[in-house]
Amino acid sequence: MHEALFYTKLENQTVRCELCPWYCILKPGQTGNCKVRSNENGKLITHVFNRVAAFGVDPIEKKPLYHFYPGKSILSVGEVGCNLHCSFCQNHHISQCFATEFSGFHEISSKEIVDKALKTPQNIGIAYTYNEPFIFYEFMFETAQQAREKGLKNVVVSNGYINPEPLKHLIPFIDAFNIDLKAFTNDFYLKQTKGKLAPVLETLKIIAKSEAHLEITNLIIPGLNDIESEFENMVQWIAEELGKDVPLHISRYFPKYKLEIPATPTETMLSLYETAKKHLHHVYVGNMSDTKRSSTFCKHCGEILIRRNAYEIQIQNIRENGNCADCGTPVKIIFY
Ligand code: SF4
Repeated sequence: MHEALFYTKLENQTVRCELCPWYCILKPGQTGNCKVRSNENGKLITHVFNRVAAFGVDPIEKKPLYHFYPGKSILSVGEVGCNLHCSFCQNHHISQCFATEFSGFHEISSKEIVDKALKTPQNIGIAYTYNEPFIFYEFMFETAQQAREKGLKNVVVSNGYINPEPLKHLIPFIDAFNIDLKAFTNDFYLKQTKGKLAPVLETLKIIAKSEAHLEITNLIIPGLNDIESEFENMVQWIAEELGKDVPLHISRYFPKYKLEIPATPTETMLSLYETAKKHLHHVYVGNMSDTKRSSTFCKHCGEILIRRNAYEIQIQNIRENGNCADCGTPVKIIFY
């Protein structure tokens, strides 16, 4: 067991965790809302240090990141637990269980993960993903520091539910984020995730102002977050607060976990894609086969730059200096 960062000791051995907006107040023996941080005799400890629950080598496009080392692979690691409780969670078998009740951990150090990443062919670095990485903050932070020292890239795929101080402390070691913006109403967040919208928007603003690369994912769920006007408010906010160049992935929902609503109709996806394109330069559809709407086009002249078919990509019409071969407009994609 490893002592956690970002907490305050209160009276009678009680502690307050300050990592995420829950600010859990825990008496000795109690575990936080994320199910991985506990008060052990007046000390906040994390149960997910030096262990992982899930490993994989994925295409970077699977995170999804489309403007960050396209075509490369990334060693991906995850733990158990989450600080949101989405009714439609895709990974609920690991995200919604207590660390103390999970039996499938691999014991592994940060150094061993970095060594593994260095030995994996075509691999650019390490992605912290599968469950919510901010709740295994201490292990991610240590691994990211060591990975950076070895020239590896660090990628965080997250729900964005973290407090500003720990986020700012971590950002200098992270090269790219994909943040899930699940909807644009607090009502949706409260009912479907048990969290709140405002902290996620704050996270997005902090990342957008940093040096790290940012992409956003929005899962479209029929009847819950597919109202055209609400969706348009969201994309307008992204354009105004984060920038029109931030790539947005709108992802097709399929029934999972507690939610039995039928899958998102493709017409809804196509309609919202057109709405998003009015405000943002790079919009992609996910969880459905659509080469055109998964490909990257020059924001100025419309020339195709990267053609995608599932996780296969073809880079086209991009000069060595990274500009569009047709009109010379700089393409904001990180290749090297
Ligand atoms: S990280 Fe976990 S323990 Fe800490 S405030 Fe968030 S939910 Fe609570």
